[in-house]
Parts: sequence; C-alpha cells; structure tokens
Amino acid sequence: MPHPNNSTLSTLYDSDVFRMACRQYDLAAEMIDIPDEALERTKYPKRCLTVIFPIRRDDGVVEMYEGYRVQHHLSLGPTKGGLRFHQSVNIGEVAALAMWMSWKCALVGLPYGGAKGGVKVNPSSLSVHELEGLSRRYMQEMIPFVGTDTDVMAPDVGTNEQVMAWMMDTYSTHIGHSVPAIVTGKPLSIGGSEGRREATGRGTAYFAKSYLNEMGIELSDTTVVIQGFGNVGSEAALGMVEYGAKVIGIGDHTASFFKADGIDIGRALEYAAKNRVLEGFTEAELIPNDQLLELECTVLIPAALERVIDENNASRIKCQVLAEGANGPTTNAADRIIEERGDIEIIPDILCNSGGVVVSYFEWLQDLQSTYWTRGQVLKKLKEILERSRLSVEEERRRLNCSRRMAALTLGIGRVAEAKHARGIFP
Ligand code: GLU
Repeated sequence: MPHPNNSTLSTLYDSDVFRMACRQYDLAAEMIDIPDEALERTKYPKRCLTVIFPIRRDDGVVEMYEGYRVQHHLSLGPTKGGLRFHQSVNIGEVAALAMWMSWKCALVGLPYGGAKGGVKVNPSSLSVHELEGLSRRYMQEMIPFVGTDTDVMAPDVGTNEQVMAWMMDTYSTHIGHSVPAIVTGKPLSIGGSEGRREATGRGTAYFAKSYLNEMGIELSDTTVVIQGFGNVGSEAALGMVEYGAKVIGIGDHTASFFKADGIDIGRALEYAAKNRVLEGFTEAELIPNDQLLELECTVLIPAALERVIDENNASRIKCQVLAEGANGPTTNAADRIIEERGDIEIIPDILCNSGGVVVSYFEWLQDLQSTYWTRGQVLKKLKEILERSRLSVEEERRRLNCSRRMAALTLGIGRVAEAKHARGIFP
C-alpha cells in the first residue's frame, strides 16, 4: 500500500500522458512482486530541471523559450534519452517519456536509467541559425545537470544529428576538450556510430518481420501503413520495403497518402527532404489525416507522437500487427479495446523502438573507449540484443499469461525495482 504521504507526489507532472505511464506502471507492478519499499521509489522520476532562456531571432527580436530535462532514475548508470523540439512539449509529457526510457533500457539490458528532454518550440518556425542558437543555449543551461556518467542525450522528435553536433560542441567548448560521449546520435565525423540513424526505424521493421514470420504471413503479402515520416517512420518504411512488403499508406502532420499497389518510398523521401513535409506529394492519393490509421493493412506503424490510438479509433483500426515505432502511441483505454478484440498483435513501444537506444549505447561505448566499430559489428550486436529481448518478452508473457505490453513492462520495471532494492536507501 502506498504511504499516505505519497498521494501528493508528482502533481508537478500531472497530465494525460503522465497518468497513462503511471497507470501502465501500476498495472505491471501489480503483476510482479515488487517490494513495498521499492514500489513508489521505482515509479516516479528522480529529478528534473526546467529552464527558461532567451534566443535572439534573426530580426533582432529576443524571444523566451521553456525547456525541460527529466531524469527518471540513476540506480543503474547514467540516464539516457532523447531531446524533443515540439510545440506541444510539456513537463508531464517529458516525465512520461523518461519513465518509458527507463523500462526500455532495463528491458533490453542497458546500464542506464531513463531520461527525456524537451523544448516547447516548433522547430520549423526557426531558421537554421536560430535553431543552432536554441540548441546551444539549451545545452548551456543543462551543463550542470548532464554528463557522460550522469545523463546522455540523443535525438527525438524534432531534433537530429546536426542538433546533437551543436550540443556536443557547446559542451566540449565549455569543458575545454572534445567530449563525444556527452550525446549520441551525432554525425559519424565527430564520434557518431554506424547504424545509429537507421536503428529505431529498422529495429521496428525487424520486429514486425519477426512477428509476421511467427504468424506465418509472407512478407510479399504484407501491406504496411506508417504514421510519421521523420527518422523513425521513413527508416521503418525502407526496412519493410527491403523485406519485400508494400507500404500502402504514409503521412506526417501536414498530409496523408494512400496507394494500393505501394508507394515509392524513395520518391517520398526525396520529396520530404526537399520540401521538409509530405504536403504536396503527388505520387499517391491524398487522404484525410484521420483516415490513415484506419486503413486496412497487415502492419500499422505509428511513428510520430503519443496517444494517437485511443478509445475513439481503437475499434476501427484494421491491422494484424501494431508495431509501435513511437513512444506511447496507444492509450490504456485503446489497449483494453484491442485486447478484447483479440485480433491484433501489439509489439509494444519499449520493445519495438528499442533499436535506437541500443545503438546509442554502442555509440557511447565507442566514444568512451575512443574506438570504432564497423557497421557489420554494430548490426550483428544489435540483432543479438533485439532478438534476445524479444524472446525474453515472449517467455515472460507465457509465464505471467499476460499481454505483450505487460510482459515487456514487468521485465523492465522488475529489473529497476530489483536494483533499487539491492542498493537500499541512503542514509
Ligand atoms: N529518443 C529515442 C527513444 O525514444 C532514443 C533515445 C536514445 O537513443 O538515447 O528511444
């Protein structure tokens, strides 16, 4: 039983998405034997930093921006997780994303706690120069809070290799020498890893393929719909096409498209690289954004923001496999509806998109040891970890007779709780 004092904990983070992560935790914690004294300690984020900082726009006007970093737990090593630039970022969302990073890292066996950062900004409203200023100033504000042994950032929605390069440069300039291990997802030229950029999307495609194989569905008979055409969505699309599947639906926040005999992903990528968005793409049929997730397909891959499959559309999605490239795309109510339906295999986010943080871990290791792994080495080790994690989830699922999401969560949460319990309470 939670202590009465705990009922007021974490009101700071209160939001739909934080409540969703907490509810997932409560359900998973109930299924396993977490010692009482570790129950609340494992659940709530350890600490956070909020910063409000100025940026001078190109026209000379000074604007203020708000940013966050939430570190969920530090019991197993540094915290790890992405940095998001998006206009809807808030501290509750960042806290939920940090919790999911913790369960994800523990599930796949990385010596990390979870973290997440965010700045409330629409990055496409800024020039490249302004974006550089924002990235550098955010990192500058975070210097007392991060470190190669404390907290290591990476790309997330709205950030990329270039942003990571600016952040690495800002930190290194402050310290007085190059510190490549301060962030992952960097360009190869400054200590990035082979395979990192593709890892999240390709890992998602890899899991989709594994489950299709188990279900006896041929890749050549497989149709795929993907929401989100950033790094994760586009790499998942390329991965699925490489496996022989047909991507019949894609979309981003500006427009969605359908083509029954398969969209040319190479052409869509070229278009998005040139125009920054999919809007205006003419090589497939334009459909309303809210119809994308409801297209009939074999594999549905949400690869954008959280909570897009909810109680309103969960009964209408028409896929056999739901591969969660995004973090938290399916609400708890939608989970219940999908479970009752019983006709969809969910590959839960913390398993499905874990390829990204696994290769981030490889990047961090390479940087700390000033060494370099070949692409072949990276992909071989990545595959080993993904497959081992997948099999452990399947075993846990049989053991607890529960959903795949609950199996993934109980493994991740159980490992963090065990570590906290073993370390005890100081003083
Ligand atoms: N932002 C990614 C995620 O949500 C990657 C985090 C990382 O590589 O540290 O998993």
